[in-house]
Amino acid sequence: MLGSPLRYDRRVTAFAPLPDRARDVLRSVFGHRDFRGEQAEIVAWVCAGGDALVLMPTGGGKSLCYQLPALLRPGTAVVVSPLISLMKDQVDALRQNGVAAACLNSSLGPEEARRTEREFEAGELRLLYIAPERLVTERFESLLGSAPVSLFAIDEAHCVAQWGHDFRPEYLELGRLRERFPAVPRVALTATADPATRREIQARLLAAGARVFVASFDRPNLRYRVSERERGGDQLLAFLAARPPGESGIVYRRTREAVERTAARLEAGGRLALPYHAGLAAEVRRRHQDRFRMEEGVIVVATVAFGMGIDKPDVRFVAHLDLPDSLEAFYQESGRAGRDGVAADSWLVWGLQDLVLARQRIASGGSDEARKRIERAKLEAMVAYCETASCRRQVLLRWFGEERQGGCGNCDNCLEPVETWDATEPVRMALSAVHRTGQRFGAGHVIDVLRGEAGERIAARGHDRLSVHGIGRHLSAVEWRAIFRQLVARGLLAADAEGYGTLALTPAARPVLTGAVAIELARPRHAPAPPRRRRGSAAAAPSALEAGSVEERRFERLRALRREIAAEQGVPPYVVFHDSTLRAMAALAPATEGELSGIPGVGARKLERYGARFLAALAAASA
Ligand code: ADP
Ligand code: ZN
Repeated sequence: MLGSPLRYDRRVTAFAPLPDRARDVLRSVFGHRDFRGEQAEIVAWVCAGGDALVLMPTGGGKSLCYQLPALLRPGTAVVVSPLISLMKDQVDALRQNGVAAACLNSSLGPEEARRTEREFEAGELRLLYIAPERLVTERFESLLGSAPVSLFAIDEAHCVAQWGHDFRPEYLELGRLRERFPAVPRVALTATADPATRREIQARLLAAGARVFVASFDRPNLRYRVSERERGGDQLLAFLAARPPGESGIVYRRTREAVERTAARLEAGGRLALPYHAGLAAEVRRRHQDRFRMEEGVIVVATVAFGMGIDKPDVRFVAHLDLPDSLEAFYQESGRAGRDGVAADSWLVWGLQDLVLARQRIASGGSDEARKRIERAKLEAMVAYCETASCRRQVLLRWFGEERQGGCGNCDNCLEPVETWDATEPVRMALSAVHRTGQRFGAGHVIDVLRGEAGERIAARGHDRLSVHGIGRHLSAVEWRAIFRQLVARGLLAADAEGYGTLALTPAARPVLTGAVAIELARPRHAPAPPRRRRGSAAAAPSALEAGSVEERRFERLRALRREIAAEQGVPPYVVFHDSTLRAMAALAPATEGELSGIPGVGARKLERYGARFLAALAAASA
């Protein structure tokens, strides 16, 4: 296939066969046994010279779609990537697999940059990663003319979309590649799937005949759970206590203060937790990010400023302690867990207050009315995800245009179906309390009235003399909060648009108030459910090994060896081998190099470099 024509004629190339060597290279270089999803088709198409837009969720296996063609086509693949840390990880990982790869970005000294440029000119590199602003300089454009290019890969391609939140003007310049190198295939890759972004990428970066490959956005290995926030810090510690030690994770908070508070709380609880937000010095942020990449068992507590460019495959959980603004944001952030395909958790706690504040932010924000409507719709979808009593994955995927039948079996609602109860009476009490207090107070005050509190704030307004005062003593404040939250989520109560949190009745509340309809509500989930052992079921890859088993002993031993090698080489442990590879080794206990090479993730180069050491560790742990 190496002899295949470089020129690509879109009128005749509708189908492309997979090059003969592709499967061999997949196995020997990358250590993968087979292609995943549409990878084979994409690789074939790009090898034949076609342009492609690849939409896959995080962890879907996008990189292979250009890395494998880069090894099969003559010339050097030029990979545009906006994030330095991500480039470095990719180059490290490729070199571990014995592939000649390098990067050009602002982190290099002039000497090093010159050397990389010379290697490129001499055709010694299979892949060159480069920052977009550097690619479009005159200097590099003339360099590009001096050596054959096998393909252009444009990672994070949604950065070219003007209306997206990650727009980067320098991406627009990449459109020029099309005019200058019409015969070189371009692959644009992204995990942002909405149709508007997709159209912009196609129009700006790709040929008219480009094929679009869309993978399912489902992340079956992620387990989704949501509960009410009572005391976030305690709940988080309980969540962590139920997990195996030594896991990496991310905790998202909305504000810097909340980040600092939660990080301190985790530290006090004996966890290694590092704060990350825009208010910290760049130097501190870099150090914390590096530790997260290079060490095991680090928890980063962060605002949404953290995450872009974090390609760490073995993040085992992402926790949200505040309500995200949209399902898009939530999907992207939670999606940073479990890129390696091994079981991982998305855990979210929230309260009515979050919704009130979010509405306030939208109301007082600078957007025009049309934009505000969109922001409100996004927020409502986020709330619907949190409040649903059915499968959360269904709600999430439907928002991205994917319908699926039946529950997923891997979210809290599927695993422990929500109990519903006839809440008609309490709901009527809640609605009339809102009515009697004049529809001018937030849930906290109305709940105090219902519970018969007699504080000054109540008495001063005469609310202790209302007929509803004290009629709801039989329920706790927590139970009342759950009721109010659900009433707002279902549209029976409206939190005012200015966002002060005052609740008013909506027209939908009337038939309930007058007793015409009954209301079923979900019982709130309080504590995070203890994790179950996840052996045997298909959706649940092994996460925790049986404590004290020989398998676990092997796994720990292999992990220690991996740490040692990573430290020797100055790379993150997952660049040596992924958790999933170590787990397979621990389970199958290969005793020979032949057996070891059959483990997913063990390519020829890694076998040669590390095989003997890992076999020795396995033998020692099994003895
Ligand atoms: P993305 O860039 O889409 O987030 P990556 O390219 O980083 O995803 O791949 C995610 C993980 O999947 C990596 O650990 C990678 O080694 C693994 N992977 C990719 N393709 C395959 C495959 N065909 N078989 C097994 N593992 C794969
Ligand atoms: Zn489900």
